[in-house]
Amino acid sequence: MLNVSGLSVSFRQKNKIFRAVRGISFEIRPAEIVGIVGESGSGKSMTALALNGLLPAEAIADGVMHFAGKILRFANSRDWEGLRGNKIGMVFQDAYACLNPLLTVGGQVAEALQVNFRLTKKEAGKKVLDLFKKLGIHPATVRFHQYPHQLSGGMQQRVMLAAAMACRPSLLVADEPTTALDVTLQAQILQLLRSYTEREKAALCFISHDLGVVAQLADRVMVMCGGVIVEKGSVYDVMYSPLHPYTRLLLNSLPRLDKPLEAPQIRQESKAGLPGCVFAGRCPGRRNDCYSKQPSLQRFYSGREVACFLYS
Ligand code: ADP
Ligand code: MG
Repeated sequence: MLNVSGLSVSFRQKNKIFRAVRGISFEIRPAEIVGIVGESGSGKSMTALALNGLLPAEAIADGVMHFAGKILRFANSRDWEGLRGNKIGMVFQDAYACLNPLLTVGGQVAEALQVNFRLTKKEAGKKVLDLFKKLGIHPATVRFHQYPHQLSGGMQQRVMLAAAMACRPSLLVADEPTTALDVTLQAQILQLLRSYTEREKAALCFISHDLGVVAQLADRVMVMCGGVIVEKGSVYDVMYSPLHPYTRLLLNSLPRLDKPLEAPQIRQESKAGLPGCVFAGRCPGRRNDCYSKQPSLQRFYSGREVACFLYS
């Protein structure tokens, strides 16, 4: 079980503090897939990096995470030593940037296994070949000896999955892993992630700006806006009966066959630094009290939470 409590990430900007993530809390159970959705800049990637103890050095972080019987402090990335790449695996959008161009793809996945499990080169190589076959990296023996630039984007993404899964982590964090891929490849990668979580009883935190993709994969979804989780619930509930006005906006911006395209709403500048709700400036249903403070997440019914004054 992964339990995140009060995660905050801020950056110093000249004379003020910019709060990229504002004290969010959530949990992910074993074998559960939790999606995080939200527009660009809502704090999704900072959350992903925090779960891996990989926040940028200039970030000011707060909060703790309970995982693998340990309490890890976000302000102290050293707490993640021995867990990262081993108990926690991470997949990014840009596979090519994460692979070492000077090493064969098989060699670099094998290295992780050798280090973590004290395997010989031969034992690790054999495991990597098995993994490559499972992930559809064909023909495995040929691919093993190739360099990243010799592989297509989809193959590179699979290799990164292999690297993340090699040590059989019980938490996998995937930040926009399919955004750069075409739809067929995307579906294959989603399937691989799903079967991994089932097989290993791992927790998967799947991050995307695309609610449609999250709906295909996740069990539960958390909607982020301006560094805050504004809504949580099962995928079904959030998709079919969104509560927060921001979730409705996200859903309405999904292309639909049965509706004409609507012009996107004009984005109003958020009044940074003001105490109100992160969505108040753009909310069609805002009231005066929406500018007074950020509403906290309230239980709407079991498993369903929303942070909006309309429901309090
Ligand atoms: P998302 O992944 O949801 O698009 P991010 O988590 O990457 O958003 O970023 C959240 C906010 O934090 C953004 O407004 C971004 O500009 C800001 N941010 C990210 N990294 C830094 C940094 N190193 N210094 C200052 N601000 C940053
Ligand atoms: Mg991002």
